[in-house]
Amino acid sequence: MTAMNDSGKVVTVTGAVPPDALGPTLTHEHLLIDFTVVYKEPDNPVDAPLARAKVDFNNLGWVRFNWVSNYDNLTLDDEALAIREASFFKNAGGGTIVDATTIGIGRNPEALKRISNATGLNVIMGAGFYVEASHSDEYAKRSVDDVARQIVTELTEGVDGTAIRCGIIGELGCSWPWTDDEKKTVEAAVLAQQETGAAILIHPGRNNRAPLEILEFMSSKGADLSRTIMGHIERTIFDPSVLSETAATGAYLEYDLFGHDSPYYPLAPETYMPGDHQRIDQIASLLDQGYGDRVVLAHDVCSKHRLREFGGHGWDHIISRVGPWMAARGVETSAFDRMLIDNPARVLTYPS
Ligand SMILES: [Zn+2]
Repeated sequence: MTAMNDSGKVVTVTGAVPPDALGPTLTHEHLLIDFTVVYKEPDNPVDAPLARAKVDFNNLGWVRFNWVSNYDNLTLDDEALAIREASFFKNAGGGTIVDATTIGIGRNPEALKRISNATGLNVIMGAGFYVEASHSDEYAKRSVDDVARQIVTELTEGVDGTAIRCGIIGELGCSWPWTDDEKKTVEAAVLAQQETGAAILIHPGRNNRAPLEILEFMSSKGADLSRTIMGHIERTIFDPSVLSETAATGAYLEYDLFGHDSPYYPLAPETYMPGDHQRIDQIASLLDQGYGDRVVLAHDVCSKHRLREFGGHGWDHIISRVGPWMAARGVETSAFDRMLIDNPARVLTYPS
């Protein structure tokens, strides 16, 4: 099957579906992930033994602040756990999860298909590569065309010899400063987008200017920015004028760290992680500026401490709590539904 046959449809791990089958959609999650690529030694040497501890309620307070300094916390490899946790989203009315786990951080097509079948959720798998720290040694030798061919194959035929296809390109990892091999991935993704029409999801480096740098580069290579999602907006863009400038490119802006409510941010200690209250403020300003058709939402769960069984908010957080919080802050229900249902369906659907 070629992507041409997918016109007007969304490709999930169980096959192509019409866009109205998606329902409430989280555009950036990790049902399973090996996120140990971001592991960082504990800041305080007395905490060193905690790095190898299993996450439990005796260390959870520490894990919440030091979530990248515990190997177990960064490992989601239990399908049964993923099924139980994703079912909270399904039972709250959820319909679709984009699993943004790309090559280098434990993507597993067969497991995603089993999770989809067990939960009744649509699962959309990502194509392409994460940040350079996760690349294999041979990646540096590959050409743009070679990487583009692989992405097209993953979209049109399947991943790793399976017939399970990706339905989006990304999350594509970009560091700050942006590296040549990460740029190669993005350039290859643009070629694959031109060939197939697939949407691209970007993980930008942690700098206010990173999203614009990436979008300008993509635009110069001929990307369709109206089929591009810029992820992690809230931990990246702190300047309202840069936010407006980024929105004006026409790309989708993804607020994808809902529920991550610990302001100390170990991956960028020079800045901070906004809370849900601040996320809602930023989104409200985008709605006021007329960008209500360009915002999408997610939690980017990539560690155990975000899951309910480990004391976390769980995958129903946006539906069960953020929606009502937004309503209390004056965001119309129709605007919330647009961000959770209509916008994801539009960007995930292959153009006719
Ligand atoms: Zn992610």
